Amino acid sequence: VTRIWIAIEIPPALLRDIEQGVFYCSESILHSRVDRSRGAGIELEIADGADGDAVESSVRHWIEQVIARSLTYEDRTLREWGTMPGTFAATPDAIAASSELRTLGEGLVAYGPRLTQVLRSIVRLCDGLSEAIGAQPLTLPAVATLEHMQRCDYLHQFPQLLSFVTHFREDYAVIDAFAAQCRRGQADACQPRPEALRPFARLLRPAVCYHVYPCFEGMTVASDPLLVCATGDCFRYESRNTTELDRLFDFRMYEIVALGSTAGVLRWRDQMISQVADLLEQLGLPGRIKTSNDPFFVSGSVMKSTFQRAHDLKYELEVPFPNAEGKLAVASFNHHQGFFGSRFEIRSRDGAVADTGCTALGLDRILAALLVHHGLDIPRWPASSRRRLGIG
Ligand code: 5GP
Ligand code: ZN
Repeated sequence: VTRIWIAIEIPPALLRDIEQGVFYCSESILHSRVDRSRGAGIELEIADGADGDAVESSVRHWIEQVIARSLTYEDRTLREWGTMPGTFAATPDAIAASSELRTLGEGLVAYGPRLTQVLRSIVRLCDGLSEAIGAQPLTLPAVATLEHMQRCDYLHQFPQLLSFVTHFREDYAVIDAFAAQCRRGQADACQPRPEALRPFARLLRPAVCYHVYPCFEGMTVASDPLLVCATGDCFRYESRNTTELDRLFDFRMYEIVALGSTAGVLRWRDQMISQVADLLEQLGLPGRIKTSNDPFFVSGSVMKSTFQRAHDLKYELEVPFPNAEGKLAVASFNHHQGFFGSRFEIRSRDGAVADTGCTALGLDRILAALLVHHGLDIPRWPASSRRRLGIG
């Protein structure tokens, strides 16, 4: 590998996003490290034989755009609890090496029976939160149509995360030729020819809540807010940021979604923030709730004011974690204002365009946080945590 240093001033608030987002600039970038102490630039490891000047110019251009399109802001902490552990009870590497966790491909994990039991307990706790507030459960597909995600404005905002799905054209000769090609040999001989495939019309969902809004299309919601919940696998292509534990390609999310008036949705969100924080505290995890935003490949048309407002639209719950940033976002609390309400013509009881909000819990990440804080030996977790999880 070759190391290159790109001297460019990076505002503190953007260090993490730039360190992680840089991989989407070029496939020859293997590793990145920003200068955390002075924000004076970024060091990259690039593959031997790659054109360093080309990589540098593409990275520079991207960083300049990111800086130009974002506002530096101060994080605001809403609540903080617990104490930072002196040392963690288990490292991510030790957890990944355990017989309870198998990696079946990059960002694709299988959990053994003990971790599955904990994961199910976490889902039960989420169901408990939902039941207590009267959220109705829905069952939703893991695939979304391109048309739907375009309507949700997702495609231009987060193109780097997308995973498209397609199929063979209905053509016997084409399908038979592919079958013949795959009858023996290695997987890399099984690439379908692009012309054998239909245009991409579907993608793997990046979050659970996108499917909720079309379910209420054209409707006036009867309560304020109306609450629903759903869970399942979500997919985000994380490039070289993918890990075997806390940043997966295929991960599980539990979402509670509110539709109603602005006041109703905001009141509900405050309630969720405190209930989820309480829950994590009862599980023996320290954490904090802070403001956040979803900046990245935002188009040039995003205005400063939108960005500032966006700052109060997203809160995240972070738990201390032994990774480069020292923390892991395990849940988010989002207020979409009237965005989905107007896209899908949903009205609140008073006849106005409905506001929506969602609380998204990352199930794999809550599991990962429990493991690093309490260790791999589940019977030796704190009794109060086990009791809350219902695992004796
Ligand atoms: P958001 O929509 O706020 O980006 O994500 C909601 C939640 O999903 C996050 O708070 C996090 O817990 C979880 N999540 C997001 N990305 C990933 C990922 O790459 N891997 C895992 N395991 N969880 C994720
Ligand atoms: Zn959501």
